Amino acid sequence: MELKDLDQGEEIVQIRQSIAKLCREYPAEYWRKLDRENAYPTEFVNALSEGGYLSVLIPEEFGGSGLPLSAAAAILEEIQRAGANGAACHAQMYIMGALLRHGNQAQKEKYLPGIASGELRLQAFGVTEPTSGTDTSSIKTTARRDGDHYIINGQKVWTSRAEYSDLMLLLARTTPKEQVSKRTDGLSVFIVDMREALKAGMTIKPIRTMMNHSTTEVFFENVRIPAENLIGEEGKGFRYILSGMNAERILIAAECVGDAKWFIEKASGYASERQVFGRPIGQNQGVQFPIARAYAQMRAAELMVREAAQRFEAGQDCGEQANIAKMLAAEASWAAAEACVQTHGGFAFAEEYDVERKFRETRLYQVAPISTNLILSYISEHVLGMPRSY
Ligand SMILES: Cc1cc2nc3c(=O)[nH]c(=O)nc-3n(C[C@H](O)[C@H](O)[C@H](O)COP(=O)(O)OP(=O)(O)OC[C@H]3O[C@@H](n4cnc5c(N)ncnc54)[C@H](O)[C@@H]3O)c2cc1C
Repeated sequence: MELKDLDQGEEIVQIRQSIAKLCREYPAEYWRKLDRENAYPTEFVNALSEGGYLSVLIPEEFGGSGLPLSAAAAILEEIQRAGANGAACHAQMYIMGALLRHGNQAQKEKYLPGIASGELRLQAFGVTEPTSGTDTSSIKTTARRDGDHYIINGQKVWTSRAEYSDLMLLLARTTPKEQVSKRTDGLSVFIVDMREALKAGMTIKPIRTMMNHSTTEVFFENVRIPAENLIGEEGKGFRYILSGMNAERILIAAECVGDAKWFIEKASGYASERQVFGRPIGQNQGVQFPIARAYAQMRAAELMVREAAQRFEAGQDCGEQANIAKMLAAEASWAAAEACVQTHGGFAFAEEYDVERKFRETRLYQVAPISTNLILSYISEHVLGMPRSY
């Protein structure tokens, strides 16, 4: 049975239909083959770029379509719902926000039209490091000013899509932690042209993961980048990264809602058809209830995604809503994944049903881009006023 969508107006309905149509050209066999070969969905990402879907948030004056965040959320939700995987390209939508909100006019003119046309790929986001983990203020990668350049040294980990991106948004320390009054000061954000950096001290090492995610480690050894690639003011980078995180959480939450819908449709369909003991397995409440529960969880998460997106679009504070949306949606997609596996029994483990692939893919979102514990800690401290725990 096909699930109904929230009522969100004609434009969003049309976007959903176009994405569903585009995704039909990249059926399950396409994703299975990529998963088997650990390969990047270049054709799919190109088709999204050519259709203008990855540039919906870029203002029209720079070649995008200047649509609100809910349009981007609908695109990513629909991709996941179709059984595809937007992780290959979702970052462009939210990384670009740092450039849009904090870049200067020259930087916007230099990069945004190319990103909008698909000619320039801004898919890599270098924040996480092996030794600092979630504690971003403890990153060790440094950027030292040297005349008209900065010299970058250090290492990033889990820099996804680095091999399939022309540009990277990089967070590095420009003033040592011991010399700043607040630990989040002294961090700066840069645009790194990876095509140049690869010729001059930057190396990329792929990490194989349990799902097909094109993630990597990136090493910087005396990589010189022009000082004009600094975004905003030196030392204020942490704030710029934070300002994009609400958008990131809302968009990832929308992807999780899409995953949950895929699992629920798949599970309820199979439960209604599969006959054991002479009747459909879905006639047993033990099979029905986990699917129905996951459905209820997904609907609640979907409403929270909508509220968070509306507040974001109205320029209101949406930290609480974005974090809750991300947590509820990731939990709903995981509950739906679990119910889908159980409903399919042994067949859940067969590649051709796609359940095991989606199951591996959706598990990520309770850990990245922010783990559930850190969201609970945000709610405890910032919403409920309890003491800071770390
Ligand atoms: C496939 C994949 C792709 C990724 N892509 C990117 C990317 O493109 N760019 C990027 O910068 N990063 C990326 N990440 C990194 C991701 O954001 C981090 O993995 C995530 O933020 C968690 O950091 P960590 O792995 O270092 O875990 P840690 O910080 O080591 O935490 C480990 C566990 O301890 C818990 N924990 C830590 N501190 C506390 C505390 N104070 N209270 C309670 N619990 C705590 C965490 O919740 C977590 O469950 C990616 C990660 C993965 C796995």
